[in-house]
Amino acid sequence: MGPLIDYMGTSGPRALRIELTATVSEAVRGSLWNLPAPRSDEAMNLHVFLTTINVPSSEASPDFFSWTVDGDKLQTFSSSKTWSIVRERQPIRSWHKMVWFKGHIPKHAFTMWVSVLDRLPTRNRLASWGMLTPISCCLCSSSDKSRDHIFAECDFTKELWRRMQAKLSGTTTTFDSWPQLLAWCSQNVSKSQRALRNIAVQSIIYNIWAERNDMIFNNKVLTQLERFKLVDKNVRNIISARKTRKEFKHLMVLWLV
Ligand SMILES: [Zn+2]
Repeated sequence: MGPLIDYMGTSGPRALRIELTATVSEAVRGSLWNLPAPRSDEAMNLHVFLTTINVPSSEASPDFFSWTVDGDKLQTFSSSKTWSIVRERQPIRSWHKMVWFKGHIPKHAFTMWVSVLDRLPTRNRLASWGMLTPISCCLCSSSDKSRDHIFAECDFTKELWRRMQAKLSGTTTTFDSWPQLLAWCSQNVSKSQRALRNIAVQSIIYNIWAERNDMIFNNKVLTQLERFKLVDKNVRNIISARKTRKEFKHLMVLWLV
């Protein structure tokens, strides 16, 4: 009949003289159900139903919790299934595969995710919250300090993208805008190429943000070449740590040619 409270309504505990938090055993006295005479159709139906099942007894077995999630009866409580039912769902985003791909590095994916959502505390955003920040990009001193500038339009960044493209496609083309970068990431290419693009792009985004933070907070500056060497090392480490996975097997060759 489902949860009794749904069937009997909020007046159910009063009508059946069973506390809301009572267990089944508390509705039993000796070998009989401990219920008042029925005064409504619902209570009558319940009594009729109870005649079809055995009266529970503490000698038979102890009380236990029965977990039902979305119609599935579970042996034990599953926090993941419960979470997936109670959580608020958002539509699937077109960019999710370039953020949460198989084998991603959590800190890289997180920076990528926050970048795609444009939630990084760029100077533009800090200024929009009323904070006094320097008025220029700390990587190239241009007046633009938005996410789109830092990750796509900035001269410092463009050099990193150029070096990545030289490795991946043998060209020195770069990206003119953030949407162009995202469009390149979602191009229809082979699985290996897609995995390598995702790894390289996330590593560069992470390194650009690290460069920006080093400059602001640690007064530490790397050249574009030094920064790209870190990216290169990052990418190699990521690939070699996953070389036993099918989708990562050929990536080192693709990256090193
Ligand atoms: Zn810049």
